[in-house]
Amino acid sequence: MRKNLIQLFFISFIFGSQIVAPSDCFSQYAKTTIEKLASPKFDGRGYYKQGDLKAAKFIRREFKKSGLSPVNGTMFQPFSFPVNTFPGAMNVTIGNKKLVAGKDYIVSPACPTVKGTFPLLKLTWPLIDFKQNDYSTSFILVDKAGLDSVAAAAFDSVLRNPPMVKGMVVVEAKKLTWSVSQKVNDQVFIRVLQDSFPSNATNIKLDIENKFISNYATQNVMALLPGTTNSDSFLVFTAHYDHLGRMGKDALFAGANDNASGTAMILDLAKYYSKPENRPAKSLLFIAFAGEEAGLVGSKFYTENPPLPLKTIRFLINLDLMGNGEEGLMVVNGEVFEDEFKILEKLMPISNCFKRLEKRKSPKQ
Ligand SMILES: [Zn+2]
Repeated sequence: MRKNLIQLFFISFIFGSQIVAPSDCFSQYAKTTIEKLASPKFDGRGYYKQGDLKAAKFIRREFKKSGLSPVNGTMFQPFSFPVNTFPGAMNVTIGNKKLVAGKDYIVSPACPTVKGTFPLLKLTWPLIDFKQNDYSTSFILVDKAGLDSVAAAAFDSVLRNPPMVKGMVVVEAKKLTWSVSQKVNDQVFIRVLQDSFPSNATNIKLDIENKFISNYATQNVMALLPGTTNSDSFLVFTAHYDHLGRMGKDALFAGANDNASGTAMILDLAKYYSKPENRPAKSLLFIAFAGEEAGLVGSKFYTENPPLPLKTIRFLINLDLMGNGEEGLMVVNGEVFEDEFKILEKLMPISNCFKRLEKRKSPKQ
């Protein structure tokens, strides 16, 4: 978004936990909404069985219940983009151990379909010359545990510029984080948690099915609450409602914190401000964006195809990762918009909901 045009706050709770433990400051409605959106019924609000569409319909229904209006006759703003999905088989066995999808391992979001049993060769230091032999049907095991910095850097360079191999298995010490890809790679990348990796395994058995959709149709959901005065500018509340979906049928990425929490919050704000006693003078616009996890696709589409002129946006607050406010609230662009930040500071003792506010200049910091 153009920063000089739209004043933006990105707000999230600091160190928001992955597993949502909603703050007591959340309304019962917000808590229930988070639970609903993160339930298996919504399939992780991604690209498995159109979980995102189920969420979009739910959000639209809630906006309507609060009596909000469509924008130019509709609450849906459709768009499409390419996405790699995993609706079918997702089986990984290393040595004799069948691994649990999403818990023991993740496949690269750009993973292609692969089926078969392949030799698993451990990358050693000094590196072998991959050009000496044909490794095109082999998997390389990359485990950086215990390496010195020179060897670790060499292993990293192999990961960055993979040799001609069928795929790589990377052993990770810490937690696995998945994402969404708009393309499919030729090689198979699998990340396995250290604790789940069977040592001395020499082969890997795979049955993974991807489905690449070049034109996946999705939609932003938007709704208006006209102000009590005839205001021609808007305060805007946004949150992305999409998450990662499923990796195969069993591995659900529920995304309670990221970002059922922010979505629930804008629905709660819509519900609150729509009550006659709370109606603000200024008009409010609520937008639940799709496609964020695939690279901010929904918000980019909105700004390139705005149903209402962008210059009518007086201020925009984006809510993300509201899961746990124990450590306080992080306000991205808080340094840029000093006056607005001061208003938030004044609210702190009144709300009694968060201990401290942290300013960030931009999301890149
Ligand atoms: Zn997010």
